[in-house]
Amino acid sequence: MKLGCPKEIKPQEFRVGMTPNAAREAIAHGHQVVIEKDAGVGSGFPDSDYIEAGAAILDTAAEIFATADMIVKVKEPQAAERKMLREGQLLFTYLHLAPDPDQTHDLLASGCTAIAYETVTDPRGGLPLLAPMSEVAGKLAPQVGAWTLQKANGGRGVLMGGVPGVRPAHVVVIGGGVVGTHAARIAAGMGADVTVLDMSLPRLRYLDDSFRGEFKTSYASQGTTAELVAAADMVIGAVLIPGAAAPKLVSREQLSTMKPGAAIVDVAIDQGGCFETSHATTHESPIYDVDGIMHYCVANMPGAVARTSTIALGNATMPFMLALADKGWKQACADDPHLLAGLNVHAGQLTYAAVGKALGLDV
Ligand code: NAD
Repeated sequence: MKLGCPKEIKPQEFRVGMTPNAAREAIAHGHQVVIEKDAGVGSGFPDSDYIEAGAAILDTAAEIFATADMIVKVKEPQAAERKMLREGQLLFTYLHLAPDPDQTHDLLASGCTAIAYETVTDPRGGLPLLAPMSEVAGKLAPQVGAWTLQKANGGRGVLMGGVPGVRPAHVVVIGGGVVGTHAARIAAGMGADVTVLDMSLPRLRYLDDSFRGEFKTSYASQGTTAELVAAADMVIGAVLIPGAAAPKLVSREQLSTMKPGAAIVDVAIDQGGCFETSHATTHESPIYDVDGIMHYCVANMPGAVARTSTIALGNATMPFMLALADKGWKQACADDPHLLAGLNVHAGQLTYAAVGKALGLDV
């Protein structure tokens, strides 16, 4: 099979879908690999690293899309990329279709087969291709939230860890999964007073058993959520209903109950966000103000630490990428129900129920 990796074109996205090591492995499995010129530069991988691994460098994305049987990317294909997808071509990347009807319609129209990283599952009910990026975004959230809280950025002027004689920031994390746990640990490590909210009692039990002393847990009823959000200096949104749009858990009205200059970091923005007032922002212009509450809503947070993220993502995608290349998508998905769970679109048909429900389309 010929695997192609174009340069990412989403604003401020520096990750790349294939590392030189991933290219080397695919070539060792008997496949050909084509990489767009400078695709890896943002992650610190010059073209020479790919050439050394045995890949060929092509000048343009158009050449990659025209020649490759499988396209391996990071972010969802942008409008210009979607025009280049063709019938029978395999697309392996993050898609996040539920909040994105335009992309969904374009993928259906292209006739391609699209496997979404974020809905591939593992035997323990986890999401192995979302997890590494969730780990990164979770660890970044308190860091960017702390910056957002600074006065010059419109924030409340509160230091995460406080100082002797001054209490630390109150941080509330809604959703105690992978993002939430990593966010809570870093915020606690910075010295903040942290509470994690979740709807899952088993998850709260696990967090309490594992991290008692580092942060507190609370059940995410509407009343408790409202109370804690009102008292917070920073609220981190980290909920997920797999493949579906994020539930709106904090309304615009509730902003008036919050402390002026408090920071919202809505990590769940890539699934539409869990605050009514969230809209996606970019690394170029990451924060905005609604009613005196500063919102940070960057949809591709891991792009800020591209090298760490690219390597972490590559470690997780490689076995699936190799299975798809070695067996073809039909056999690979027949052999592995967890990879099959990633199938979102095939030959003009939507194949993922939660996306169909979110967009009102037949599956
Ligand atoms: P996860 O499945 O590990 O955790 C989600 C948690 O949310 C679960 O523990 C679940 O019980 C909880 N939850 C669901 N509904 C809830 C509710 N109503 N109230 C409270 N808790 C609720 O997911 P994750 O990997 O931590 O991802 C969280 C979000 O972060 C996802 O939307 C994901 O797409 C997003 N994400 C964004 C970026 C970015 O760059 N912005 C990067 C990585 C992940």
